[in-house]
Amino acid sequence: MTQKERIVIGRLAPSPTGYLHLGNAWSFLLAWLSARLGNGKIFLRMEDIDPARSKPEFIDGILEDFAWLGLDYDGEIVFQSRRIQIYEEYLQKISPFVYPCFCTRKELREVAGAPQVTAPGDRLIMPDMGAVYHRTCRFFSPEERKQKTGKNACLRLACPPFEKQEYEIIPEQFHTAAPIFSFNDLILGKQEFDLNACGGDFAVQRSDKVWAYQFAVSIDDMLMGINQVVRGADILTSTPRQLYLFQLFGHTAPEYAHIPLLLDPKGERLAKRHASLSLKTLRQKYKSPAPLIQYLSRFLAVDGNAGSARELLACLKEKKIQSLPWDMLKQYENAIQTNFT
Ligand code: GLU
Repeated sequence: MTQKERIVIGRLAPSPTGYLHLGNAWSFLLAWLSARLGNGKIFLRMEDIDPARSKPEFIDGILEDFAWLGLDYDGEIVFQSRRIQIYEEYLQKISPFVYPCFCTRKELREVAGAPQVTAPGDRLIMPDMGAVYHRTCRFFSPEERKQKTGKNACLRLACPPFEKQEYEIIPEQFHTAAPIFSFNDLILGKQEFDLNACGGDFAVQRSDKVWAYQFAVSIDDMLMGINQVVRGADILTSTPRQLYLFQLFGHTAPEYAHIPLLLDPKGERLAKRHASLSLKTLRQKYKSPAPLIQYLSRFLAVDGNAGSARELLACLKEKKIQSLPWDMLKQYENAIQTNFT
């Protein structure tokens, strides 16, 4: 199938840990338009994997926001909280690469060096690579591990390069694997990262048994057949980790577009704490989503009076636009300062 004939299968993947804001509307609008412009599919996945932070009222809020904006989705909603069994099963498939880490937060802080990766441009507000993990628990013998049993352990994924002493358990095709992962971002162009500079061996399950974001997202993208991921540039350095997981599972990775983050007038990244820009507040203030949709359309150089995401789609289709103008977003690198109130 040529690139042209391929139908986008995208996803909207909100975390119901707070009310969505203007920045979320921006990412979801782009993900949705990208899929719908080529008559593709878009699935809704609630990333409610963390029971302590996810709340039913935020799920309701997200569904109301989507209905208000005019963002529809295909099929049933996928809830990560209902997929624990699946994550368990997929963990078994990569068990040679997984080891328990007994380090406490304090120990990790003490040995961690400063993160070494800088994402393109200087304005990335929150690169998500975390501190580098120094493989402290990776080479413990089975006896040493046994001694520590009972201590809360998270599960980490061993990243390349592998040491000779690991060759017995690591499948042969990975013995000389390199930690370098590259991909062509639809907006940022060619990206290349060294996994070890992005934090090294990362957690797939936290010590409180909550599945880690990187792991759950990769399994879900894989099983849901997602072939295009449109998300904020703040997640850029997660992508090499997810590419590594795809490689371990022998699965083709989706294509990625890491979109510029919206910043408030002070240059701070929009977050759930910007209550005045929460979609819940904007819904009450404006009743119609038109002002917001029209404001966001300008970053795509679309003028017009679309009253909802659906109307914006119709307007783009009328102009015979079949895919999002990704190049247009290059000019912003990874952040756009906004003055929407
Ligand atoms: N659930 C994540 C968030 O709301 C997005 C994950 C992703 O798009 O990969 O930040």
